Amino acid sequence: MRHILDRQRRAPAVVALVSLLLMLASPFARAATPAPNPNNKPAQGKHYVVGTDTTFAPFEFRSESGEMVGIDMDLLRAVAKDQGFSVEIRSLGFDAAVQALQSKQVDAVMAGMSITDARKKVFDFSDAYYDSGVQFAAPKASSVAKLEDLRGKRVAVKTGTAGADYADSVKGQYGFTTVAFSQTADMVNDVTAGSSAAYVDDYPVVAYSIQQGAPMKLVGDKAPAGSYGVAVNKGTDPELIEAFNQGLANLRANGQYDQILAKYLGAQGTTQRSGFFALLADTFPTLMKGLAITAAAAALSIAIAMVLGIAFGFLKVSGNPLLNAIASVYVWIFRGTPVLVQVFFFYFGIPAVTGVTLTALTAGVLTLSLNAGAYMTEIVRGGIQGVDRGQMEAARSLGLPYMKSMTKVVLPQAIKIMTPSFINQFIITLKDTSLLAVIGLAELTYMGQQIIARNFRSFEMWLIIGVIYFIVIGLLTVASNTVDKRFNK
Ligand code: GLN
Repeated sequence: MRHILDRQRRAPAVVALVSLLLMLASPFARAATPAPNPNNKPAQGKHYVVGTDTTFAPFEFRSESGEMVGIDMDLLRAVAKDQGFSVEIRSLGFDAAVQALQSKQVDAVMAGMSITDARKKVFDFSDAYYDSGVQFAAPKASSVAKLEDLRGKRVAVKTGTAGADYADSVKGQYGFTTVAFSQTADMVNDVTAGSSAAYVDDYPVVAYSIQQGAPMKLVGDKAPAGSYGVAVNKGTDPELIEAFNQGLANLRANGQYDQILAKYLGAQGTTQRSGFFALLADTFPTLMKGLAITAAAAALSIAIAMVLGIAFGFLKVSGNPLLNAIASVYVWIFRGTPVLVQVFFFYFGIPAVTGVTLTALTAGVLTLSLNAGAYMTEIVRGGIQGVDRGQMEAARSLGLPYMKSMTKVVLPQAIKIMTPSFINQFIITLKDTSLLAVIGLAELTYMGQQIIARNFRSFEMWLIIGVIYFIVIGLLTVASNTVDKRFNK
């Protein structure tokens, strides 16, 4: 596999053929063990949730239609079929998938995950299914030609990966610094933008992106970094490992393994770069699916936050020190920590200790509603306190009871004061849904990352996505203002 790429640049068709042959003759293809007894299927009838990376073509990425495809995905589905178990795939990102495994959000990780000694201490691995390595790459036009050229420069790496470890181990020798990203696409973007001089990723991934037309070149030699395996938490799910190994052996024996590899690595040539409007037309349906999730997450969060804000807001103005303290602590906590930390806490932290796993949507809506609820509490408090004290006193002296004075006299004025701040908070919450991409919620930003991972067209895609958010937020603003005018005049 090693020099496939060098040759590929010279003669794509020949090399594609050679790569196929090499693949067939790879040690793994030869090491195939005879198919075990097909009647003994250790995971038959079971259901597993498997975490994977988001953007790691050709192992896992989204097809044009938004489906998870790639060597890992096809192998996993084929093994599951062969072994009679079912799988649900969660596309989270590499580091996030490993964290999700540790917090038992998923049963296994299959994400081009290298089998390393350090990892073997915490995870059990299946047999190796692909031989990989680590590779530096830089823009084609860059002056960086060898690792020595990276002195004093910045190199993008991917959090928690074997590639990041490798870069750290040689950065002293070559005198570069590293910056970590959570996704392959982000590393590539950083290098494309010129912020980093090079990036480090697994060799087959770099090779594939170049084959797909990414304007990059290899820098230095491929460094060995172990083979890929499926991981489960140590001591858990031995049946899954057993079943995967058996299924893999069967696929190797019946030729399906080679077919899957050939499907993604064979002669497919570079994809033609389409124009902007073709790109828009191609990606629009996927983006609209993302927008629907964004809208649902935002609407749910805003509705729950309103309820929380009104409840805690009234506690704050209740005059009862205990109730006031409860509401204040709530506001302190959720205003005093970043939303992203809250998202991680609910999605990775809580399940790790309680064993109760939350879906990305539940964890996301929970976080955003608690967060926005804290701000809305302050809006409600400020609104009520913003109404002149004399209003309440006048109402009471006219003989109206407290509740009546509140609902008939104070609140109508308070709501007028609160509305602009509420509209602001709606917009903030809608935008905050984009943070939920980090836990794999398939909302608009996430869909964008997925598409860019496939086509490497970050400028046009982020422009399109920015415009979509802009339009939606514009509509939300106009609608809120209309409602405001109608009811508050
Ligand atoms: N093979 C690398 C690792 O296991 C990277 C995997 C990935 O980025 N999905 O660390």
